[in-house]
Amino acid sequence: MKDSELQRKEEKASVYATHPDLFKLLSIKLEMRSQHGLRYIIYANGKWSCTCDFFQERETCSHTMAAKQILTSMPLMGTFNEEIHIDDSN
Ligand SMILES: [Zn+2]
Repeated sequence: MKDSELQRKEEKASVYATHPDLFKLLSIKLEMRSQHGLRYIIYANGKWSCTCDFFQERETCSHTMAAKQILTSMPLMGTFNEEIHIDDSN
């Protein structure tokens, strides 16, 4: 038999899950096995970063581009992509 308090939390979670606008993505850290070794891709404070050499020179790279493509399929990423766009225009 399920704990009734836990049951109520699960019901509340189902309601919250239909309102992605209540959530704001603050940070992500990914590890990626690239052709040249492990890369660490981070999203924090509205900005992306990557540990590869290309990113240090150009502030973008194939790893962050791929991460954005993967994560765009998540509902939260609507606001997330707007923030990225604002950064690009600076
Ligand atoms: Zn990179």
